[in-house]
Amino acid sequence: MSLLRLAIQKSERLTDSSLALISECGIELEQAGAKLRAPAFKLPLEVLFLRDDDAPGYCADGVVDAAIVGKNARQERGSDATVIRELGFGRCRLSSAVPKSLSYSSVGSLNALNIATSYPRVLADCLERRCVRASIHEISGLVEVAPSLGLGEAFCDLVRSGGTLLGNGPVEVETVMQSQAALTCNQALCKESRAIREGFVSRIDAVLRAGKTKYITLNAPNESIPEVVRLLPGLKSPSARPLATSGWSSLHTVVGEDDFWGLIERLGAAVGKGIRVLPIEKVIQ
Ligand code: ATP
Ligand code: MG
Repeated sequence: MSLLRLAIQKSERLTDSSLALISECGIELEQAGAKLRAPAFKLPLEVLFLRDDDAPGYCADGVVDAAIVGKNARQERGSDATVIRELGFGRCRLSSAVPKSLSYSSVGSLNALNIATSYPRVLADCLERRCVRASIHEISGLVEVAPSLGLGEAFCDLVRSGGTLLGNGPVEVETVMQSQAALTCNQALCKESRAIREGFVSRIDAVLRAGKTKYITLNAPNESIPEVVRLLPGLKSPSARPLATSGWSSLHTVVGEDDFWGLIERLGAAVGKGIRVLPIEKVIQ
């Protein structure tokens, strides 16, 4: 029987969010605390716990069928695997940084420097596109301290807020790539495995859509319903149910995340207080 083998990161930064997404997809794992592999209950899917350095290559080579990995890792180590969905967590950027003492004016200032990084391939591609000739020195960890140890004059590493870079003195100078977790897949799947993957991706889509929408309910006098409808651009009319108090209705609608707070303020100005906002678990289309 066909099985979809899905790799996720083993007990590090992306692990909890990956497991949460799998659970929100309604998939329960048989051995939740398993070290290497955990089959899913009642679904032909198996989760493998791997290092983020290995999962992208395994996915590109077909050792696993799909993987949840940072786009940065996929770009460096498994670019033959296709990004099927960006998942919205694990956001970070790969940036180059130089010591404060180095005078930096533009990307050309990186010319002829020795740059330490765990992402030599992504960095080399970026420098080539920008016509910079630097030497890249590959190291596997503690990249941000490399210049102070004499391992290169600059470095290139992942950063979320910039806090680590600033805390250690170096200045972030160029963004090499923006990243977030993504579902990547090997394209050479048999028909049955592809069908399982499509089912899994539909569940992910339902969860991602739900994360981008909110359910709003409010009570309003009937005469203000046209105004409320006018405030909900691009959406179907809200449903209106009569309240026990005559002349009033309870309105229900779903709104997107974009300009959510602006919309709430405008609705508040039109109908007063008492707007209730509820999370949506899944949106199936
Ligand atoms: P492993 O043991 O699996 O090799 P690791 O220590 O190399 O783990 P993590 O530091 O857990 O890997 O990072 C995993 C991924 O998390 C990164 O590849 C990146 O996509 C994402 N990430 C998000 N924010 C950051 C950040 N501030 N620093 C590093 N990685 C980040
Ligand atoms: Mg790693």
